[in-house]
Amino acid sequence: MLTGIPVSKGISIGEAHILDRSKLCVLKQTIDSSDIDKEIIRFRIAIEQTKKQMQETKKKASEVADKYSIILDTYTLLLDDDILVNDTISKIRNEKINAEWAITETLNKSLLLFDNINDDYLKGKKDDLELVVHGVIKNLLGHSQNALADIQKPVILITHTLSPADTISIPRQYVLGLATEVGGKTSHVGIFASALGIPGVVGIKSLTTKINSGDQIIIDGISGHVITKPTKKTLDHYKIKQLEHKKYERKLLVDIKKPAVTTDDFRIRLMANIESTHEIKALKNFGAEGVGLYRTEFLFLTSQSFPSERDLYENFKKAAQEISPHPIIIRTLDIGMDKQLHFYGHNEEDNPALGLRGIRMSLAKPEQFIIQLRAILKASLYGEVKILYPMISDADEIVQANSILEGIKEEFRAEQIPFNEDIEIGAMIETPSSAICAELILKEVDFISIGTNDLIQYLLAVDRINEQVAHLYQPYNPSILKTLRDVFDAAAAAGKRVSICGELGGDPMITLFLLGLGHLSDLSMDPHSIPKIKKIICQSSLKEAEEFSKHVLSLGSTNEINTFLNEEMKKRYPSDFAQDSKYEIKENS
Ligand code: PEP
Ligand code: MG
Repeated sequence: MLTGIPVSKGISIGEAHILDRSKLCVLKQTIDSSDIDKEIIRFRIAIEQTKKQMQETKKKASEVADKYSIILDTYTLLLDDDILVNDTISKIRNEKINAEWAITETLNKSLLLFDNINDDYLKGKKDDLELVVHGVIKNLLGHSQNALADIQKPVILITHTLSPADTISIPRQYVLGLATEVGGKTSHVGIFASALGIPGVVGIKSLTTKINSGDQIIIDGISGHVITKPTKKTLDHYKIKQLEHKKYERKLLVDIKKPAVTTDDFRIRLMANIESTHEIKALKNFGAEGVGLYRTEFLFLTSQSFPSERDLYENFKKAAQEISPHPIIIRTLDIGMDKQLHFYGHNEEDNPALGLRGIRMSLAKPEQFIIQLRAILKASLYGEVKILYPMISDADEIVQANSILEGIKEEFRAEQIPFNEDIEIGAMIETPSSAICAELILKEVDFISIGTNDLIQYLLAVDRINEQVAHLYQPYNPSILKTLRDVFDAAAAAGKRVSICGELGGDPMITLFLLGLGHLSDLSMDPHSIPKIKKIICQSSLKEAEEFSKHVLSLGSTNEINTFLNEEMKKRYPSDFAQDSKYEIKENS
């Protein structure tokens, strides 16, 4: 049994098809001075060909999975990278070597720079760079970009990684599941696998050396296991698990139109987190009642420069219209930390998580903030649009942000530019100071939304993207749960809406606890999580949830809380929590 990172839920059982395409054979060749220009042209043509292939892939991708097509734009940007292109051209010219060898050397030099980096996001960029350069080399060598076409029967793909072109040309009808050696939770393979509903596990070191084509294997995209050559007993267990999972998923989607109401009539609005407006179309399939968090950073991260006010306005307007009559909460730019804009002239910071990010950046450099607010205000006529400020650490920041907003409203009134005068303003509660002083923050806003991803990071002093301390990132730590209780109490006292838009909002293990805090108005999450969370809410009463939360808050340690939540949730909702553990087999241990 091999263990990796589960990226797409489900079980698949089938024959392995090894597709190790990570090794390209590149030879060094010297060239004559008279051939240098020709070689540079050959290199440029290969770059252009690769860009074209990316764009074609992107076109196909947008038909299947819009979010994935955005990632392909970032690959195309890498092909315009000065260092990659110019260093390779200088090498061809100065060392009189062939383009394949020159770009391989440029790549190896660039990859060395990543070796000392302990940051998942930047490490992901290393894989991206390798992938893009391999595409160029294949074009230089005249290799076909699509060797998946020879798959003619149902298989489980086992590979080092998959290029975007590979991923998009996966013959869906034949690929039952997939597992790769590299990649993380947010890698493009994972996003794509889950968009297509193909069970997937990534990040299993040396996977391709441990399995042979034709071996029978099982992919467990729920627990992250890959089981090779299973015994009959194991196989039977997984066949049951597979059936149960399919049945369970089908059942969840039956009640998609039903609201999330407890048995004693307490209603919670379940909304979706999105990174791109392309995702809105699919939200109704999961029963989302609006967008609780639009992370606008991705609009900027996939651009070469700042989008114009017009571009932003068009984007927000379309989003508001598509989601209407439901609301959309647009978060102003939360750039900084792991999301850096290369065109923002960002300063190097020793502690970027504690640096100029979110609202701090917006207040320090208000030009872009003003453009965003203008675009949101103009779009506010086309639906129930709300504004959300990220990374608030004190009420003064909201006063400053609101005064900028007020200035824009004044200008609009003077120029007779229409907008919704009653547009609501919210603050994210994701720093300890904002949580402790939630009552002060609440005086300045219409609603609050708790960003548990960052709140946990800052309360526990555990970097959310550092794998070395990942085991210390404990959402069920008593300090987190008590902080949530206090923030909920503050919102109740102020009579204002409180939602959770961090990962905890979509974690079914903690739903009953959140409900029991008594004043939960909305949860916003990855849309795929909505059906299960809704089912739990509909099966519970507020009264039992309150008892439950009280008990959880009386427990003295993370371990105790973990054990209690695990046992209780399985006992109370057997059909919802058996999924992840009921059929667990410890065959090799
Ligand atoms: C959060 O911090 O919980 C959140 C929702 O914002 P992000 O994950 O974008 O930082
Ligand atoms: Mg955050």
